[in-house]
Amino acid sequence: SNVAALLAAGAARRPDAVALVDTSARTSFTWSQFDAAVNGQAGKLREHGVTAGDRVVLRLPTSADFAIALFAVARVGAIAVPVSPTAPGAELTTVTGHSGARFVISRDAGDVRPDVPVLTPSTEPGEPIAAVGGGEDIAVLSYTSGTTGPSRGVMLSHRALVANVEQLEAVPGTLRHGDRVFIAIPLFHVYGLGPGLLHSVAVGATVVLAERFDVVKALEVCAAHRITAIGGVPAMYAEFARMPAEELGAGLASIRLLNSGAAPLHPKVLATIREKTGLAIFEGYGLTEAAPAVTSTLVTGYAKPGSVGRALPGIELRLVESDGVAGPVPLDPDDLDDAFAADDAGAGLVSLRGANLFSGYWPDGAHGPGEDGWFRTGDVGYLDTDGDLHLIDRANDLIIVNGFNVFPHEVEEVISALPEVAEVAVVGVLDDRSGESVKAVVVPAQGVSLSEQQVVDHCAGQLAGYKVPRTVEFAEALPHSATGKLRRGNVGA
Ligand code: ATP
Repeated sequence: SNVAALLAAGAARRPDAVALVDTSARTSFTWSQFDAAVNGQAGKLREHGVTAGDRVVLRLPTSADFAIALFAVARVGAIAVPVSPTAPGAELTTVTGHSGARFVISRDAGDVRPDVPVLTPSTEPGEPIAAVGGGEDIAVLSYTSGTTGPSRGVMLSHRALVANVEQLEAVPGTLRHGDRVFIAIPLFHVYGLGPGLLHSVAVGATVVLAERFDVVKALEVCAAHRITAIGGVPAMYAEFARMPAEELGAGLASIRLLNSGAAPLHPKVLATIREKTGLAIFEGYGLTEAAPAVTSTLVTGYAKPGSVGRALPGIELRLVESDGVAGPVPLDPDDLDDAFAADDAGAGLVSLRGANLFSGYWPDGAHGPGEDGWFRTGDVGYLDTDGDLHLIDRANDLIIVNGFNVFPHEVEEVISALPEVAEVAVVGVLDDRSGESVKAVVVPAQGVSLSEQQVVDHCAGQLAGYKVPRTVEFAEALPHSATGKLRRGNVGA
């Protein structure tokens, strides 16, 4: 099957209902208008000679333009390569060069001058075009945000993307026909593209898009469009949590489902939103290589704080040892947050098997799932006594001090409990004596003073000696990815 068939199904079922609302461009499309616009864009791509297997870069914000271009590229059997519309020229050149792109679809690429021809997005209706290709053909080439190491092109087939939508559809209480879903996260990131856009379209939900997230505007949009579900990231929910209860409650009055993914959701944010609105936030875990959703707390229907829930139906998950991690890593239960309840915790690398997995990295399919179908992620986690997954850290972020494992997240949790701390990143730095030592980079809360010694003393009271930062630095801000993920690798070492 072809990804574009997800739209054809929606369009056939309820042609005159609203499919797509673009709150930034102030446009909206019924299902049949959406389908016709996809045909129009697909026709233009054909006129320009785009054929099956060609790479077409989508340099577009979260918008109807993006949604239409994505389905159009899929319909002609080409490969969509989504990039950030604000990425600097050098990054765009890297992607066009590495992927061998034929065109860039962009509203105005004058600022970055791509080295391949630019097409402006089209929303004009066109004659029906039958979908070309599908199955194992690659539909999307997604360059990971490069939180760890260089950015890589993840090849996602039609089979993988459609499988992940079906796996999401099999979760009780998930998106359904009649939902109105608010999406203000990047569609160029596969979390917005898959569980956001494709899943909504597949079930016939109305998608309400915003180019960027502004908390006050978002609440207005949610109220005006009687939004029932939000596909969001932790940074968004943290902003919601800071709003007065009354305003938040009014904005979210029609909501039945809040989803969070892409980065860890802080239990404090979960608790605050629940206090102010009575709503739970269901947390999912995913990665580009899994097209992307892997687990969700919605699988059990219990938004357990600190957990990312269980594997979606159709995905097998197990924890394995790896060279990088001396695993299963024995964890001291005292080291863990009470909420984690990890009695017999043995941590290991999260390993996956399922029809949603990628086809390796561009161009030759290297490092994909093994012959047995299993794929090892770079994430270290453990299962609690209920069988729910908790992520500890990425194996690459592990700091090894005198042979002892230090998970940066644990130290960050302790430091961020200080009221004077707005944000913190913990990284390993080379150390002559201990191999590596722990360094904390702290963003102090506004208008407070905080000393290095205060941070160290606080940690010494709660952590084993080797986990206590050897150095503490202060910074005005920390680097984040487009989905709000802390980029530890870019924190000055
Ligand atoms: P690169 O792989 O190049 O470093 P990236 O990791 O940012 O880039 P993505 O596929 O966007 O690429 O991110 C997937 C990663 O995000 C997961 O492997 C995991 O580490 C993290 N992640 C996703 N969801 C969650 C979550 N709910 N809690 C904690 N971490 C999460």
